[in-house]
Amino acid sequence: MVARFSGHGASRGSALGRARVRLPHTLEVAEKRVPATKVDAELQRLHRAVDAARGEMHELRQRLQGALPHDVGEFLDLHALLLDDPELLFGLDELIRTQRYSAGYALRVQRDKLANVFNDMEDAYLKSRMDDLDHVIGRIHAFLHTRPPDVKGMAGEILVCDNIAPSELAQLQSQGVVGIVTSAGSALSHSAILARSLHLPLVVGAAGVWQKISDGDVLIVDGGSGIVIVDPAPADLRNYRARLRELAREQRELGRLRSKPTRTLDGVDITLLANAESQEDVAQAHAMGAHGLGLYRTEFLFLQRNELPDEEEQFRIYRDTALGMSGRPVTIRTLDLGADKADRTGLTLSSEENPALGLRGVRLSLARPKVADTQLRAILRASGYGPVRLLIPMVSAREEILAVRRRLARLAVQLRAEGHEIAEHLPIGAMIEVPAAAIALESFIDLVDFLSIGTNDLVQYLLAADRNNEAVGELYSPLHPAVLRLLSQVIHTGLAHGKKVAVCGEIAGDPRLTPMLLGLGLTEFSLHPATLLEVRRTIRDCDLARLRESGRKLLQARDRRSIERWIAEAARP
Ligand code: PEP
Ligand code: MG
Repeated sequence: MVARFSGHGASRGSALGRARVRLPHTLEVAEKRVPATKVDAELQRLHRAVDAARGEMHELRQRLQGALPHDVGEFLDLHALLLDDPELLFGLDELIRTQRYSAGYALRVQRDKLANVFNDMEDAYLKSRMDDLDHVIGRIHAFLHTRPPDVKGMAGEILVCDNIAPSELAQLQSQGVVGIVTSAGSALSHSAILARSLHLPLVVGAAGVWQKISDGDVLIVDGGSGIVIVDPAPADLRNYRARLRELAREQRELGRLRSKPTRTLDGVDITLLANAESQEDVAQAHAMGAHGLGLYRTEFLFLQRNELPDEEEQFRIYRDTALGMSGRPVTIRTLDLGADKADRTGLTLSSEENPALGLRGVRLSLARPKVADTQLRAILRASGYGPVRLLIPMVSAREEILAVRRRLARLAVQLRAEGHEIAEHLPIGAMIEVPAAAIALESFIDLVDFLSIGTNDLVQYLLAADRNNEAVGELYSPLHPAVLRLLSQVIHTGLAHGKKVAVCGEIAGDPRLTPMLLGLGLTEFSLHPATLLEVRRTIRDCDLARLRESGRKLLQARDRRSIERWIAEAARP
């Protein structure tokens, strides 16, 4: 009989396959003690299991070396770190020694103790780290009982379980699993991030799935809507197939555009750059025929770790990014930590009342000169390997650009004296995302070579509407007369001074807004590579002269409705 479950879509894509149900890994519940004479043996048994789990993790890391994006490798490292965590291990030893608990029961007691700590946390991200801990404890427990690893995904199957660890995901995909449904978990978890990066459909928080679905049931999983259909009816199968066909046709059509020019109907070439956060994105940008990288967000190197990346590590990543784009320009943005991108290294302040207006972006870099210099040296060194450009985030005043320029000049002399090959000219750009910088652009435009408009932040600061606060989600919209006027002003001021101007906020990747941006005078877009071809297709259907002409009307719009009407009209052939 057809049944439906509804969870949260955590990784888009549809899958059809047979269910493989994995029951939750239950830790030994019964209290069990060992005689005093067996305590040492029990401790050894525990340590052997921890070593075996560590070895397994190490082996997996080695096997997947180079096959995983940087951030995914970090999940595995995190699990390895947990296995060395004194809090976890000494606590266990202590319980066995003083209480004479069996290793399995001690594991259970320790797990529950730590779970209480995690449950009390308010931060959803930190809370979801309990999944990692559970996975690690589960592996130790499995080795205590010398059980073989308990996840055996199979080709064409959909795993149904209570929760999934990131390291398991990587294994499952290589075993051919086509989708995953969990009863718990969150779309913020590392597993969800990894599933998205692996393009593996994932639905989380679908209550009751592992209790009610049986091995071999046929499932349709929609990782976008979060719907899981069990034993689909003929109509469900028809819909599923129609959807796949539609997606495949669209992908085929889009695929043809990879090597096509991004040229409007009236023959004007538009530049499409890519935004990237990982080496995966760089590879995708290259494959989609991006004209270069318009925004490489370096702060992602600083997240999910306890120590700052040193110059050598940063240099290698920036160099590989430059090499990865094989001669096309690569725009590396200096650290934009702060606000919602808080790190664990102690670099960002945790006590700010209003972090979005606090020490973030270039302000943080200038307040931490050593950290800034390490990064600037790494970027300068990478400039010897390809056309690297440097982009400064959160600029609000001329002095900030001057300060960065001064540091760069001093570091360049230093690096050359050390024998490094660096570019003769490193183009410097400013992010225009603070209204003050947009309004007073003329006051510092002589100091920059190019501009990149960060509409994600510009909209929030201009409209006083937090980009992460759902309560003001309606207000947080680029379709506001003030936003359009400011965009047009920045674009025209920049171009009038002979500077290139791109938009790198999310609106650049939304094909519905492409005609509007063209109408405002934009000629460079920087967007996530996943939507690059859709935007290219839209641009190829646009008559630029017509859009520019009617763009004047757009600037006279007095409300959102009129702007939306303009967009709808522009979309008509
Ligand atoms: C922006 O603000 O538009 C931008 C591209 O930067 P981020 O989203 O990283 O703040
Ligand atoms: Mg920003």
